[in-house]
Amino acid sequence: MFKYNALNLGKFSEMNKKCEHCGLHFEVEPGFFIGAMYISYAFSVAMLVAVGVALTVLFDPPVWVYLVSVTSVTILLLPFSFRYSRILFLHWFGGIDFDPAKRVTQ
Ligand SMILES: [Zn+2]
Repeated sequence: MFKYNALNLGKFSEMNKKCEHCGLHFEVEPGFFIGAMYISYAFSVAMLVAVGVALTVLFDPPVWVYLVSVTSVTILLLPFSFRYSRILFLHWFGGIDFDPAKRVTQ
């Protein structure tokens, strides 16, 4: 689905136009993946809560530690959040289904 490795920070967001196995066009309609930002937002909130609760339970640090930790984790996991939000959005709202009969064979 994506052209480059998630750790390639300059190009992690570049996608192929269509699936090389079945020919599915990933962008079902223009601007389709804009909706994926809601899933990405949910990931960010989940990370914020997880890091915040973990810090509170383990260390109970001052406020600046929360801010630095949450910001760092969110930025470090951005490529994965971006990609998985698009994948989930495509599967949940793309109206696609797997059909082995339509497989492109080469
Ligand atoms: Zn495919």
